[in-house]
Amino acid sequence: MSDLRELYQETILGHYKKPRNFGKLPPPSRHREGYNPLCGDKVTVYMHVKDDVVTDIRFEGSGCAISTASASMMTEALKGKTVAEAEEIFKRFHELVTGKEAGDNDNLGKLAVFAGVREFPARVKCATLAWHTFHAALEGGEQPVSTE
Ligand code: ZN
Repeated sequence: MSDLRELYQETILGHYKKPRNFGKLPPPSRHREGYNPLCGDKVTVYMHVKDDVVTDIRFEGSGCAISTASASMMTEALKGKTVAEAEEIFKRFHELVTGKEAGDNDNLGKLAVFAGVREFPARVKCATLAWHTFHAALEGGEQPVSTE
């Protein structure tokens, strides 16, 4: 268990200090802003979707280690996936952090480190902010996403 905790901290801190796919995407991109007022996390997710595939995805923002690492790892997990696959990963990730998953996380890979946040309900919003924002960007529209 302590190994898992170390892995959890190492992975999350690594992505927090050096976020992957950080920055804007040039237009025409879909983008959406998300905000978690409880913690003060802000994220904007940008993506290009072509022929139902998420061909590129980036994010910008500022927030705590959990929200930044989650956004960073999300971009790695979703890039190159079909929209349907991405939505499935979002669903599984959400189940993982809220503790409702059936135990089959094989295809979540490194994202499984976020299982630890289920012990901290306030952190679940940090961990899912970028994902909800991604989901909203897929659906289109302009309203910023709020976890509240
Ligand atoms: Zn946060």
